[in-house]
Amino acid sequence: MMGRQEAPAQLFYDFDLDRHVPRNHVLREIDRLLDGDKLREAIRPFYSNLGRPSVDPELIVRMLVVGYVMGIRSERRLCDEVHLNLAYRWFCHLGLEGRVPDHSTFSRYRHGKFRESNLLREIFETTVERCLSENLVGGEGFAVDASLIPADANKARSIAADDWSPDVARAAGNRAAQEYLDTLDDAAFGAASPVQPKFVAKSDPAAQWTRADESRPYFAYATNYLIDTKSAVIMDVEATRAIRQAEVGASRTMLERTEKRFGVKPDWVAADTAYGNAENLGWLVEQHGIIPFIPFIPVIDKSERTDGTFSRSDFDWDERSDQYICPEGHALKQFRRNYSDPNRGQETEGRKKYRALKATCQACPSKEICGPKADARYVTREPHEEAREFARECRKTKAYKVSRDKRKKVEMLFAHLKRILGLTRLRLRGPNGAKDEFLLAAIAQNLRKLAKLRPQCALVEVKA
Ligand code: SF4
Repeated sequence: MMGRQEAPAQLFYDFDLDRHVPRNHVLREIDRLLDGDKLREAIRPFYSNLGRPSVDPELIVRMLVVGYVMGIRSERRLCDEVHLNLAYRWFCHLGLEGRVPDHSTFSRYRHGKFRESNLLREIFETTVERCLSENLVGGEGFAVDASLIPADANKARSIAADDWSPDVARAAGNRAAQEYLDTLDDAAFGAASPVQPKFVAKSDPAAQWTRADESRPYFAYATNYLIDTKSAVIMDVEATRAIRQAEVGASRTMLERTEKRFGVKPDWVAADTAYGNAENLGWLVEQHGIIPFIPFIPVIDKSERTDGTFSRSDFDWDERSDQYICPEGHALKQFRRNYSDPNRGQETEGRKKYRALKATCQACPSKEICGPKADARYVTREPHEEAREFARECRKTKAYKVSRDKRKKVEMLFAHLKRILGLTRLRLRGPNGAKDEFLLAAIAQNLRKLAKLRPQCALVEVKA
């Protein structure tokens, strides 16, 4: 006989929401990692002592965490999900009958108190501190990379760069255009490059018209991650325009901020060729003493000769005396005398030229295979050549091969960000919108990592 499900009317239920949420639920693990009191203290100075009580900021943060951890991208849908899902209700401390705030509350908080108090960055840094205290950060090797995230901007509503000017942005009068004007001098946005993109989106002028590999061009921002390679903990995150100069600048900002904030400076950094220009290698090696496991950008090396005459690599570099020594043992120098004119004999930026003495070369038995056409031989030296040479030597080591494998962890985080957390297109506009979204996504990824690698439920079971 076919059964039939009865729906008995019951006046009272004995229902415990806490017992209903499984011990190993990801939100239960994350719950113990969020400190509501600390969060409220951070935002308290931005509230008045008078007036109606606001929606609890902890509730908004908890709902945002649910949204990013569970990959719910729409705030309207997030409100519906929190209303219906018992685990979400438990995590947000709403009980069975607590009222879920309206979706417009998120926008008010984001543009108001959260931005003024820099609350999202504080929460992100708290997750990093927790990872440090849980021994998930090795601090020995970091990896850095950037990934393009399409902006909420449409090509059909963009204009050609020639028709674009800050006055057009002022006339547009929207929040994203105002943020674009505020970041014109910011190295991560307006001042990253003097080159204008082909198109500018009127709805979000700071978004970069760009493309990734073989895809069609689109408007995008770049999310930059600095991760520790031990457990792929995100040490820092930065939003920039989607161009190389801004991404390289962001890597430096993140390395400096991590050292200042957490006192962690890596021995080595692994990155792709985008970070391998001479200036960046010089910054890492000469200024900060960090080993660069970075493939340098191949440049046209005119120093290597193919006609059988001596190449630059046949000359020995003497760092202490700032000179090259030729195969015949003679010195090639930049300057050979003290000039009375102080403007002469000065070190200059850029490529340097080291010359041998004309008389020495003329009398040299190797002249025919060194510099047969010139009166005297010279060799050039590129800026930050020591750092470039050091990076080249690093590439030959076993540690470089290991770092290359570990660098893939940052790419896996970007794949996770897009596939699992669903961050395939930004919802918020403007540089601040991109910053907020990337910070929240990084918070979610670090919290998920902590929940997975340091689960409390395992401890409970062991004790039981
Ligand atoms: S030609 Fe001049 S630079 Fe070349 S090996 Fe002879 S002395 Fe040295």
